[in-house]
Amino acid sequence: MKEFDFIIVGQGLAGSVLAYSLMQENQKVLVVDEEAASSSSRVAAGLCNPVVFKRLTKSWMIDEVLPFAKIFYRNQETLLNDEFYFDVPLYKLFVDEKEQEFWKQKSNEPHLFDWIDHKVEYPFDQNLMNYPFGASKTLQSSFLKTANWLSKFKNYLINNNAYLNVKFDYDKIKLTDNSVTWNGYCANKIIFCEGYQSIKNPYFDWLPFKLTKGEVLTVNFKNLKIDYAINKGAFVLPYNGNYKLGATYNWDEIDAEPTEEGKEQLLKRAAKFINDEVLVLEHKAGVRPTVLDRRPLLGLHPEHKQLAVFNGMGTKGVMLAPYFANKMVKFLLKGEKIAPEVNIDRF
Ligand SMILES: Cc1cc2nc3c(=O)[nH]c(=O)nc-3n(C[C@H](O)[C@H](O)[C@H](O)COP(=O)(O)OP(=O)(O)OC[C@H]3O[C@@H](n4cnc5c(N)ncnc54)[C@H](O)[C@@H]3O)c2cc1C
Repeated sequence: MKEFDFIIVGQGLAGSVLAYSLMQENQKVLVVDEEAASSSSRVAAGLCNPVVFKRLTKSWMIDEVLPFAKIFYRNQETLLNDEFYFDVPLYKLFVDEKEQEFWKQKSNEPHLFDWIDHKVEYPFDQNLMNYPFGASKTLQSSFLKTANWLSKFKNYLINNNAYLNVKFDYDKIKLTDNSVTWNGYCANKIIFCEGYQSIKNPYFDWLPFKLTKGEVLTVNFKNLKIDYAINKGAFVLPYNGNYKLGATYNWDEIDAEPTEEGKEQLLKRAAKFINDEVLVLEHKAGVRPTVLDRRPLLGLHPEHKQLAVFNGMGTKGVMLAPYFANKMVKFLLKGEKIAPEVNIDRF
């Protein structure tokens, strides 16, 4: 029987960030993952937008979560000797004068000073981009090349004997008084980070997910060249010499299959503001682990304290995972309370 402090199921953003946060506290961790190419984390564009464009409010807990995310991913760059995390201004293209006016008003509110610029600009070629009402940008937006980071981090786990590439079979769990065994491995706890596939977990299938399928394209343009991210109903993000164009939101169809409708929807939205030929290079889909009350899921199984969950990162896994992994570690190792808003005992 091989012994670990924690077995983590899932090497998406949630499982990876949590695994490293525990390893930093000298915990012996085994990450079990069946490595789906279409996992939400590998499909994600990885954008961290500090504001909610619709209402022009700060994103939930942004003051707390963003500094954690920045430090975490910068540390990963040092650890893995590569670049994954980039600052990128995100321009909002205004649809009409009213929207422009609303932005200007909001940019004068002190709590938004650090997050949105007040200047209305025309930074893009107006022959190639249609935005007669100008644009303005967010401050402190960034993105993580999620798939690159996850691949590199997987190698780090392998080199530290902390990775097993296999489907986790729930039938093999055996609960003992203070520990748990699975498939020849023994641990104090198993922490489930399976993203949307948590709905198949017999111990946690009662958690109220309200899953959201999303599709994203990798594209290139014939003439348009931009260094910034832009948003006008869809986002365009410069990415490895091409662009990510995303994303759709579908609450009815829950699978990771790219669809013609999804592709058409994204191309139509882009055509509303980009007057250029678009070449589609790749098309991917994933399912976001979104929760009914749109808050993460942290905590222990109500009866089996050897089983825990760290999930529910929803549409913002990149920003949320490092802060909440830190809270989860403090809960697991020091007994600090999990905030009621994210504790699964709220259900
Ligand atoms: C189209 C799209 C665009 C997105 N854009 C952004 C964005 O710009 N910014 C942002 O912050 N977020 C974005 N997201 C959301 C983000 O992807 C999620 O918040 C985050 O990736 C969730 O990570 P996770 O680790 O919980 O789940 P997942 O990424 O789904 O990872 C779960 C892992 O567990 C493994 N697993 C599951 N069950 C088992 C089992 N039984 N045995 C072994 N392994 C198992 C899976 O293979 C997978 O590797 C986007 C999502 C989509 C779909």
